Amino acid sequence: MTVHFQTLLLVIMVTGLVMAISVGAVANWHQRDGMTYWAVGLALHAISYFFVTQTGTLGEFGSFLIYILCRACSWAVFAEGLYQFCHRPAPRALIWTPVVLTGVSFVLLFDQLVARIIGTSLIGAVQVLLSLLFMWHMRHETPGRGKYFVIVGLVIALTLLLLRAAGATQGDPAAIVSLTTSTPIQAVSGFAVLTILMLLSIGFVLMSKDRADNLNRLLATRDELTGLANRRRMREVLTSEWSRASRSGQALALVMIDIDHFKNYNDQYGHQAGDVCLQQVAQSIAVCAARAGDLAVRYGGEEFLLILPDTEASDAQKLAQNLCQAVEALGLRHLNSPSGKVTVSVGLAVQTERLYEDAESLLRAADEALYHAKHGGRNQVQVALASLLPGTLVSRTPMKLVQLIWRRAYESGNPLIDAQHQTLFIDANKLLGAAFDGRPADEVEKLVQVFVADIARHFQDEEDIIKRAGYAGAAEHAQRHRILLAGARDLLTRFHGGSVGVGELFQYLVHEVVARHVLIADRDFFSSLNAALPEPGRLPTET
Ligand code: GH3
Ligand code: MG
Ligand code: MG
Repeated sequence: MTVHFQTLLLVIMVTGLVMAISVGAVANWHQRDGMTYWAVGLALHAISYFFVTQTGTLGEFGSFLIYILCRACSWAVFAEGLYQFCHRPAPRALIWTPVVLTGVSFVLLFDQLVARIIGTSLIGAVQVLLSLLFMWHMRHETPGRGKYFVIVGLVIALTLLLLRAAGATQGDPAAIVSLTTSTPIQAVSGFAVLTILMLLSIGFVLMSKDRADNLNRLLATRDELTGLANRRRMREVLTSEWSRASRSGQALALVMIDIDHFKNYNDQYGHQAGDVCLQQVAQSIAVCAARAGDLAVRYGGEEFLLILPDTEASDAQKLAQNLCQAVEALGLRHLNSPSGKVTVSVGLAVQTERLYEDAESLLRAADEALYHAKHGGRNQVQVALASLLPGTLVSRTPMKLVQLIWRRAYESGNPLIDAQHQTLFIDANKLLGAAFDGRPADEVEKLVQVFVADIARHFQDEEDIIKRAGYAGAAEHAQRHRILLAGARDLLTRFHGGSVGVGELFQYLVHEVVARHVLIADRDFFSSLNAALPEPGRLPTET
C-alpha cells in the first residue's frame, strides 16, 4: 500500500486544527489548567505542516524556517501548558531557549542538510524530553490515567525525533524532507505525528477531567467549614472498617465528641466566632487522630466523630483524654461555661470480642457514652460500659440479652466484700433478665428493692471494713456511697411513680453502681485491704 504523503499532511493539519479548536472550546479560551496553551500548541503543530507545502511562494528557506519555528514553538507552548496545569512556575529560559537555538541552527546550517536535520531534531528532542521528565516527575500528583496518554505521546515524539536525527546520518537525508515523494519513512512519520497529536489532545483533556472529578469527589466527602470528612465519607469508611474488623477480629473504636455549651458560645460571641471555634476544635481533633487509617469526621453541628481502626479501649480512652486536654489548652474563652474555656465531652465505644452486632449499635453505644459524659458534668471522657469491661458483659447467644459474668480478677481479697459484690452481680443479672423478658413493673420493682437493699447493706459493711483496714480515703469513699445510694433510692421512688423507665433504672444500677463503682472505684482500696489482711492465696488473679 502506498500512502500519498501530501494527503497525509492534509489529514494531519485538519486533525490537528480540529483537536486544537476542540481543546480550546473545552477550555473556553480562558487560561485554565494549561488548556489554552495546549490548544495553541496543537494549532501551531498543525499549521507548521502548511508551511512546508509553501516552498513555491515562500521559497525553501522561508517555508522551512517558519515550519521549524512553528514546531519548536509548539513544543515550548506544550511545556508552558504542562507547568500551568501542575501549578508550577514555568522555567521560561529553559523552555524558550531551544526555540531560539532551533532558528539559529537552521539559518547557520541551511546549506548542510544532514547537519541541519540532526541539529533541529536533537534540539526538538531536548524540548520533548523536558516536558516528558516534568510529566514523569508530576505523575503522582496528577490524578487519573490521562497523564499516561500524554507520556506515551511524548515518548513517541522523542523516538521520532531521535530516529530522524539518526536517519539523516544513515540513509538519504533528502528523502526525510522531500514532499514530492511518498517514501515509507515519511508515511511512518506522518502516522506517528497523527498518533502523537491525538494522544496529546485526548490525554490532556482527560487529565483535566480526571482532576475535576477528583476535586468533586473530595468536595463531596469533605465538610466545607472544618475540612474534616463529612457524613457521607464517614458512612463509606465505617462500613469498610466494620467489615475489616469483623474479618480480622481487630478492635475498632468510635469516639464521639461534642462541644460543651456551644449554643451559649454562639449566643455570646456570635455565629462567626462560633464557626472559628468549630474550625479550631476540628483542627485539634485532626491532630489527635493522625495515625494512618484514622478518620476525623464532622458528624453534625458541633459534633465530631473519630473512627479509629485497630484501637483498643485503653488506647482510645487515652487519645480521647488527650483530645479533651488539647481542646481546653486552645484557651478559647467561653464565659458561659463553668471552666471559662471551650471544652468538649467525649463518649467512646469499642468493637472487640464481637460485642456489638453492627456498626449502628457501636455508633449508638458511643453516643450513649457521650450522653453520660454530658450528664456526668461535661469536659470528660466516658467509655461505653460493654467496651470498658469486655468479657464481663456477654451476650447469651443467639438472644441479645447481656449478663454480667463474675471474674476472679474482681476479687478484693476480703471474703465478705467479695461475697457481697457477687450478690450485686446476681441482683443485676436478675434485673437484666426481667427487663429483657418484659416482666411487669411491680415484679421489676421488687427486684430493684432487693437490689437497693443489698447495695445499702454492702456499702455499710464495706465502709466498716475499709475504715478498720486504715484506708486513707475511707471517708471520701463513704461519701460516694451516700450519693450513689441516694440516687438509687430516688430512682426507685420515681420508677414507682412511673416517671422513670426500666432503662434508666438499669443504666444507673448496673452502669453507675456495679460497673463504675464496684469494679473500678473500689479497686482504690484493694491494696489497703491486702496490706491489712495478707492472704496470699486469695490475691486477685486474672482468669
Ligand atoms: P451541650 O453542652 O449539652 O452539648 O450544649 P450545646 O449548647 O453545645 O448543645 P446544643 O445541641 O443545644 O447546641 C448546639 C449548637 O451548635 C446550636 C447551634 O446553633 C450550634 N451550631 C451548629 N452548627 C453550627 C455551625 O456550623 N456554626 C455555628 N457557629 N454554630 C453551630
Ligand atoms: Mg450537640
Ligand atoms: Mg454541644
